[in-house]
Amino acid sequence: MFRQILESQTLLINTQSKKLASQNKKVIKFGFGQSPFLPPEPVMQALKDAVDRKEYSSVQGDAELRAHISKFHAAHNGLKASPDNILVAPGSKILLYAVLMAFEKADVFIPAPAWVSYEPQAELAGHNSIKVPTSFDEKWRINGELLLKAAQSKKHKASILILNYPGNPDGLTYTEEELKAIAAVARQLDILVISDEIYGLLDHSSSHASFATYYPEKTITTTGLSKWCGAGGWRLGVAMLYDNIEPEFKQALIGIASETYSCAPVPVQMAAKVAYGRFKASMDYVDRQIRIYKEVGNYCYNGLTAVDIALHPPEGGFYLFPDFSRHKERLHKAGIATSTELCSRLLLETGVALLPGTAFGFEQDQLVARLAYVDFNVPAADSIFNLERDAVNTVTGIQLIGSWLSGLG
Ligand code: PMP
Ligand code: GLU
Repeated sequence: MFRQILESQTLLINTQSKKLASQNKKVIKFGFGQSPFLPPEPVMQALKDAVDRKEYSSVQGDAELRAHISKFHAAHNGLKASPDNILVAPGSKILLYAVLMAFEKADVFIPAPAWVSYEPQAELAGHNSIKVPTSFDEKWRINGELLLKAAQSKKHKASILILNYPGNPDGLTYTEEELKAIAAVARQLDILVISDEIYGLLDHSSSHASFATYYPEKTITTTGLSKWCGAGGWRLGVAMLYDNIEPEFKQALIGIASETYSCAPVPVQMAAKVAYGRFKASMDYVDRQIRIYKEVGNYCYNGLTAVDIALHPPEGGFYLFPDFSRHKERLHKAGIATSTELCSRLLLETGVALLPGTAFGFEQDQLVARLAYVDFNVPAADSIFNLERDAVNTVTGIQLIGSWLSGLG
């Protein structure tokens, strides 16, 4: 009678980590991908000042905010969408879902690994999800050939590809050449691409290229305040549609939005106006985050590769996707044959929380897990980040993973 749908593993690990902490157990929170940065002071002030803005906005969102978003992204990397083709919502997650729901039946190409919620959303929307498997050697990236191969299992006329970079769970991005090659196949197969660029501003080399640049005719870009502005719980997401979007598609999106969430919270939209309206100040704020994420991410990368865990150096966002398979035999001897067992034993025996590869579309026996390197303190804006002082949990967590592995025998 009821749908079989479990609590999302990201939110679940957050609840579990908090529960352990409340029992006075030490937990290293590498499980949940939440920014440790506070939004900039003027943005927080704008939220406080807007507390009496209790009215609803239009479904698409405040017009001035959409104009700011349009200018902000054009200035950031040339990603263009007219304010009229922007939707603001309580989080980009619900916008991804609205895009999927706008189709009656579709094939949805989902790379593996990919963020936890795409597949359950595609299933809730009644679509046929098609996995596009990738490998460590291919840096967990899809390419045109893999997409063409996956397209052999198509069942429906409409196709959607969900692309996400810098990636969750891998922290890696695509080169312009790679994006162009995927765009060529998307064009050939007439695929709608949802380009989830929520970590775009956190590209570690500040050179994020939007997929819409290469495939402007059929890319919907999703983003929002959750990651670059440290405001996941404020719930403000953005979808940027393409020029000449089919009127009935746009109508369906607005219809779904209006019949489900109505609009994003207006006080948060007012704060978002400040975040998107001050381009230079927001970029300075983002640059500082990138410097810190790079330092913490590279520290974790070096610590994990030093104990022979296979890993690619971080390129964006705040995730790493360590592959423990070189330790397979020792893990097996210790009774660990799956990524779920790996993560639960590690949590139980060391207090380090990771998320298993199964959450991201992998088979159980693939011994990979996601590490979100967000367990550190952010010093005041005018002081310099010091890893030994500010990221004690990160340092401890990486050491614990290494000593746990070597202690397995
Ligand atoms: N996409 C990815 C890859 C994510 O990691 C997240 C998690 N916040 C989201 C989308 C959803 O973000 P939000 O709904 O907070 O905008
Ligand atoms: N995106 C974050 C993660 O992958 C958490 C938020 C969410 O899943 O909605 O951990």
